[in-house]
Amino acid sequence: MKIIMLGAPGAGKGTQAKKIASKYGIPHISTGDIFRANIKAGTELGKKAKSYMDQGLLVPDELTCDLVVDRISQPDAANGYVLDGFPRTIPQAECLTDALKNLGGQVDYAIDVDVPDENIVNRMSGRRACLKCGATYHIVFAAPKSEGICDVCGEKLVLRDDDRPETVLNRLKVYHDQTQPLIDYYSKAGVLKTVDGTRSLDEVFSEIVGILGE
Ligand code: ADP
Ligand code: AMP
Repeated sequence: MKIIMLGAPGAGKGTQAKKIASKYGIPHISTGDIFRANIKAGTELGKKAKSYMDQGLLVPDELTCDLVVDRISQPDAANGYVLDGFPRTIPQAECLTDALKNLGGQVDYAIDVDVPDENIVNRMSGRRACLKCGATYHIVFAAPKSEGICDVCGEKLVLRDDDRPETVLNRLKVYHDQTQPLIDYYSKAGVLKTVDGTRSLDEVFSEIVGILGE
């Protein structure tokens, strides 16, 4: 099962992708997590990516596509995966379509987690991230057991640099300009499924399971 998650930044793609990966036993592949791991490790890719991410801009397609094509060619992705945060532009979607053609497959589901802009700033200013294991929380909607500490690995949680309100507004603009056209792209491909992302985490997940099957 090859699934991609669409939706605005902060819509809940990562939250749902992790639940999908766990229920269906497929890897969760997040380009944002891959970039953040590279930034933490101080790699060349990380240095390049950070300059774009901090401004709320997209990392250029040529840095992103090869990375994903390489990742989905790994043995653990043979039975499918859930891509979170990729594709984000039409050229990235075309790159994925071409790569899947070569690997002999196609996207089975493009799940659009639909949340209006007015909910997004709240979601993102309340998001807390663990930069060690990738877990995410929300100070109100998905609080960690102990304030400021990751339930999974005990690391201190942070407000991501790009989740500050001034950057969030940039990211929303970039989303509308560059990523929203993918809704039409995957609708034409006949694989688009839209879920109401304003409901609770569990309700959104039930809707997704209704689409993917038990
Ligand atoms: P994305 O991966 O789309 O950027 P996240 O999954 O990280 O978004 O979610 C953004 C923030 O909103 C996180 O703090 C998360 O805990 C919270 N969140 C996710 N889904 C919901 C929901 N259905 N209701 C309330 N808060 C949510
Ligand atoms: P995310 O964790 O998905 O919210 O991504 C955080 C940031 O990483 C984005 O705002 C972009 O700067 C960068 N990024 C993640 N995925 C991509 C992608 N597919 N294309 C370009 N930039 C990306």
